[in-house]
Amino acid sequence: MSTPDIDVVSPATGKAFARVPSHDATAVEAAIVRARAAQPAWAALPLAERRRALRRLSHRIATDPEVVRTIMRESGKPRFEAEVIEVLYTCEMTRFATGRAGRRALRDEVHSPLLMATKRARVVRHALGVVGIIGPWNWPLLNNYGDAIAPLAMGNAVVLKPSPITPMTSLLVERLWREEGLPKDVFQVVVGGAETGEALVSGVDMVFFTGSQATGRLVAQAAGARLIPCVLELGGNSPMIVLADADLERAARAAVWSAFAHSGQVCIRTERLIVEASIHDQLVQRCVELMAELRQGHDDPASDREIDVGAITFSPQMDRADRQIAEALGRGARLAAGGARRSDLGPGFFAPTLLVGVTPDMEVSRHETFAPVLPVLRAADAEEALRLANDSAHGLSASIWSGDEARARALARRLEAGTVCVNDVLVNYFCVEAPLGGIKASGLGIRHGVEGLRQFCRIETIVDDRFLARGLSGLIARQLQFPYSRKVLRLVDWLLPRLYR
Ligand code: NAD
Repeated sequence: MSTPDIDVVSPATGKAFARVPSHDATAVEAAIVRARAAQPAWAALPLAERRRALRRLSHRIATDPEVVRTIMRESGKPRFEAEVIEVLYTCEMTRFATGRAGRRALRDEVHSPLLMATKRARVVRHALGVVGIIGPWNWPLLNNYGDAIAPLAMGNAVVLKPSPITPMTSLLVERLWREEGLPKDVFQVVVGGAETGEALVSGVDMVFFTGSQATGRLVAQAAGARLIPCVLELGGNSPMIVLADADLERAARAAVWSAFAHSGQVCIRTERLIVEASIHDQLVQRCVELMAELRQGHDDPASDREIDVGAITFSPQMDRADRQIAEALGRGARLAAGGARRSDLGPGFFAPTLLVGVTPDMEVSRHETFAPVLPVLRAADAEEALRLANDSAHGLSASIWSGDEARARALARRLEAGTVCVNDVLVNYFCVEAPLGGIKASGLGIRHGVEGLRQFCRIETIVDDRFLARGLSGLIARQLQFPYSRKVLRLVDWLLPRLYR
């Protein structure tokens, strides 16, 4: 059965610029079969060879202008974010996963068990097989091919399903993979929506999903039914706490950037600005001034105009912004800036919006907005700020600002989030050496770090005799196995209380 073609729309103009065929369940199944056939040869290569191949591709991604153009066109984001965030991240992730960390992740570990003193336990890591990556629309490269790099480095084949809203960048990377002569079928892209995603989950050996909580739950159920590992990177409602002794100028700039980068469509963006009462008005005032300087519009790849804030990739996000703003205003919040669509700029633009007088019970404070709306909450002191920050179903990321770094670090430990930045925002995504992931409803599992590489391997522990211990090992085995002996039991009776005081 064939599924309908997908029209890909430019969010800035509202016009379709490409039509791509989508993959039905049969086509997905066929892609998985091809991936399974190609994977053993890829896994058998030494890491150095996989490194050469993946770095060749990342060099092409970094230097082929079509990559940045495609990201900009289908997501509506400014060139700066396409290149400095998406492309740079992809290159850095390739360097990390195929370099020393990759070697460390795959190295055999040898343990000498205390109780089995004659034995040696060797932990060996094998690629899992075929990993399915399901990506969102907000980062067509970074959260799509970018998340394929770790499993590929570990020797897996990958079948990637980008969002049907932004499939073009992934399809381009698949083409570059072929043009660079990388092994056939080790990396494939399937296009489509829920049906394509469900088919992928039902055939692969592991799923790495990035997207909404609602879909994440469905993916986890399907993965659970098959007993395959599943990582979920879901939405957030990340707080930024600014305490009275913070550097206000830096904090204001960071708040504006982290709330309005990619028009607020960033999972770890500042979704709630929590400010200590004594500096609240001053910080809000400075944010309003900085927001007035933002250059919003269509960053046309053909033009040299500089743009800070682009379009909304997925237009229903604007309906959510409208709803949350109306609800907040109806319950006593006030607009300090923005508040409406910018139809004068095109169909996909929403003015960066600052809402003050927001209380924790308002929708805009309780739920992810994922659009350029920043609610500001007032806190009497650091303790109340912490309470407000942790009063959330989400736990993806957080940021805390204070002139006293030791105090900020201590408070950071009390924030319920997967990652906390002290006196900074968003940069945690680029600390690829350290694990990154959400707690509470923000997800299960992690990306990044050596742990983020090892999760794409299955573990095999091989136990054998230590060097020269084979004779002794045989003697111990005779005491432990049939026939059971009272003599050994008496020895264990004597030993137990003495060993485990
Ligand atoms: P979404 O859940 O609507 O879609 C995500 C992907 O799942 C898409 O590719 C979609 O086609 C696919 N899908 C839909 N139904 C499916 C099903 N039944 N089975 C399998 N796959 C299915 O999310 P979205 O709107 O594309 O992304 C926005 C969300 O992603 C936001 O909540 C954002 O916070 C989150 N996000 C999280 C991170 C992170 O790292 N934590 C990063 C980026 C985005």
